[in-house]
Amino acid sequence: MSNRTFTMIKPDATSKGYTGAILDQIIQSGFKVKAMKWIHLTPSQAGQFYEVHKERPFYGELVEFMSSGPIVAAILEKDNAVADFRTLIGATNFKDAAEGTIRKKYASSIGENAVHGSDSDENAAIESNFFFSNFERF
Ligand code: GDP
Repeated sequence: MSNRTFTMIKPDATSKGYTGAILDQIIQSGFKVKAMKWIHLTPSQAGQFYEVHKERPFYGELVEFMSSGPIVAAILEKDNAVADFRTLIGATNFKDAAEGTIRKKYASSIGENAVHGSDSDENAAIESNFFFSNFERF
């Protein structure tokens, strides 16, 4: 089990001014920030990041949304990071998310769901490497 996960605060949340509150909830929940950047993805970069979803019907919408404004990308550390972070953010569809979770509080639709959290240790490593060089993390 790895103690690291990868997150993005998505364009819906950054544009509504939720970045600070979301980061605060993440840190208050015991995660340590090991790398962070504020970045505006191009459609090509967003498409590459979500390549695994290429065949899904919402892929085009997802790529357009994720390149519509700036995001905050970060590597987070905590025991059991991947699973604990998925619990903290809640279900993909905020309507199904538990009370108090980040998506329940800040998401507005199934697509515009405020935050990303890696779904496995393997993907956490792949996604972290997509955004950060070894000089940008500690
Ligand atoms: P996650 O692991 O909870 O982020 O969910 P998935 O891996 O299934 O989907 C990746 C992302 O695609 C989600 O976080 C949403 O932003 C988006 N997404 C998932 N399902 C839908 C959908 O039905 N419609 C749209 N527009 N976006 C979706």
